Amino acid sequence: MKKTKDQKRLEMDTGEKEETVYTATGREKLEEDDEIDTWEEGFMEGAEDDGEQGKCANCGAALLDPDDVVETKLKGKMVWFCSNKCLEEYKDKKKIP
Ligand SMILES: [Zn+2]
Repeated sequence: MKKTKDQKRLEMDTGEKEETVYTATGREKLEEDDEIDTWEEGFMEGAEDDGEQGKCANCGAALLDPDDVVETKLKGKMVWFCSNKCLEEYKDKKKIP
């Protein structure tokens, strides 16, 4: 079950249980980004995942305009890029023909 940000913050303020996860910088960010809870949690959980929709899998740029998104399926997984150049670079990095 997901924790709400208030619960996370409460833990930080009281027990400091997640001290290792939330660095001083991360804590500042949590407080700045109060209005995007859902997105932020998804981002934190998916941060290690290359195939995240909404971001270029190669350079990490936000994909704001659906018309400009390069969508393709690699190794059975949908991935999104900001341009064909990034698609080619990504395939190169991952050694996908
Ligand atoms: Zn890109």
